[in-house]
Amino acid sequence: SVVVYWMRNKDLRLTDNRALAHASGVAKTHSLPLIVLYVFSPSDYAAHDRSPRRIDFQVRQLRYLSAELAKLDIPLYTIEWSERKSIPSKLLEKLEEWNASALIGNLEYEIDELRRDTEIVQKTNKARKGGEGWKGETTFLADFCVVPPGEVLTKQDKPYSVFSPWYRNWSAKVSANPLDYIDDAGGVEANDKSARNHPVLKPMFEHKVPEKIKGWSLDAEDQKNMEHLWPVGEGVCEEVMRRFLKTKVRKQAFFEPPLHPGAQDAKDPKKDSKIGEYATGRNNVSLDGTSHISPYLAAGFISPRHVLRLTAELSNNKLPTDKSTGNGLATWISEVAWRDFYQHVLCAWPRVSMGRPFNLKYENVVWEHNDEHFQAWKDGRTGFPIVDAAMRALKAQGYMHNRCRMIVAMLFTKQLMLDWHLGERYFMEQLLDGDLGANNGGWQWSASTGCDPQPYFRIFNMTSQSEKSDPDGDYIRYWVPELKSLKGKAIHEPSASMSEKEILKLGYVMPIVDHATTRKRALARYKE
Ligand code: FAD
Repeated sequence: SVVVYWMRNKDLRLTDNRALAHASGVAKTHSLPLIVLYVFSPSDYAAHDRSPRRIDFQVRQLRYLSAELAKLDIPLYTIEWSERKSIPSKLLEKLEEWNASALIGNLEYEIDELRRDTEIVQKTNKARKGGEGWKGETTFLADFCVVPPGEVLTKQDKPYSVFSPWYRNWSAKVSANPLDYIDDAGGVEANDKSARNHPVLKPMFEHKVPEKIKGWSLDAEDQKNMEHLWPVGEGVCEEVMRRFLKTKVRKQAFFEPPLHPGAQDAKDPKKDSKIGEYATGRNNVSLDGTSHISPYLAAGFISPRHVLRLTAELSNNKLPTDKSTGNGLATWISEVAWRDFYQHVLCAWPRVSMGRPFNLKYENVVWEHNDEHFQAWKDGRTGFPIVDAAMRALKAQGYMHNRCRMIVAMLFTKQLMLDWHLGERYFMEQLLDGDLGANNGGWQWSASTGCDPQPYFRIFNMTSQSEKSDPDGDYIRYWVPELKSLKGKAIHEPSASMSEKEILKLGYVMPIVDHATTRKRALARYKE
């Protein structure tokens, strides 16, 4: 018999991993060997608009994990099953074939994933009651959030639909008893050496994690680019966090790899490190003022508990959560809490996983169907410099600054009046950190269809947003080199001081819509 830990797309790590630690414990208690299983499912990637860069990122990490696990005499066995609907039955067949006694995994909160796991549990229960099929134990554990969904509820035991009261409740729990929430969940212990000769495991050690998944691989140049920007492997996540917690903010109009040389140590990390200055630095897109940990958190190369433990080390192992004090640590912790918040929303209102708005009142907003505008937005040719810079950065690096995500999504939904589902999908196809909860939450926030107490008339003015978030225009000059020669405020809205002819001569474009007219149109459409 064997114990199987099913590694998913969101827990690709060997440390501080609830399901893996539990599986390892069960295996030790019963003196059984442990198998780590990962299922590649291209049809699942397609159904969930996965970015090929994200799949490549995961494959690179899996190859690294496979080598690490081999040192512990544990096989990482990967299977490619294209048809996602048949994953439960195929998996159960395999468990029977291996005579597995237990299947253990971490919960994923998206509706398709919950249904898949429910099917597995139901089929197993049926078999255990005397039916056909695999009869082992199935266990799915909550690991992805700091506070699991269902634990932050109103006095009436209802889920919160607004962040601020939710956060008061979340932070009261977490700061009162940090160890209950951020303690290390443990990792994996080695198999007995004899596992190498076990009839089920032996062939698995010969098995290699594929280098590429057909239909989801990158061309050689992009592969190199991604390996440089987003390295995987031992110590990367801790180093990304160390730089955020212990080194100074740098002026940096473009995003350098998280491990770039030249980081300067902060004298007093609580004050002059990136996290120390996060309360103000995080909204300036021409500074390297945020952590860049999102791809690693989204794919679970590091746990959210771990990032908060590292943060608490700067504060006598406490978690400051009162962001009203302007404390950088508290502000950052509240951003990590947004990640939990959107998972809680996903669980409490599963319709948001199914393409429906959170706020049903806005289910029938009339969107424009304009392929030219959609393409111009994707290509960074809208004539709004901050939007164009951000969209080009996304394409080049698989990442976009949070403030820019808000700005480009706002232009998309309010000024271009394009359906937010299209923008949401394009982001998933491009982002390395693409995550249904956070991405859907961000898009619905911008489209005013989501969990936001502000009414639909929040419409950003692109020029003032640009002036605030890129005050010297360096971010724009880097990503939109056509505008390099523009001085002062002209960079934010070239058409305010230049003729169409002059703008076109630079190789740039006029704004594709007029702010005042489209603002009125958006207000009217939402009101309807
Ligand atoms: P930091 O500022 O260092 O924040 C630390 C961590 O907190 C992030 O890594 C992330 O895990 C979490 N976080 C921060 N802000 C948010 C937020 N608003 N919502 C949820 N989690 C947050 N984040 C994703 O991880 N995946 C997505 O697919 C995604 N799509 C987005 C789409 C839109 C339209 C918007 C407005 C935001 C989206 N975000 C998404 C949230 C946010 O933009 C990114 O998490 C952030 O830019 C990542 O950079 P960082 O790690 O340097 O962030």
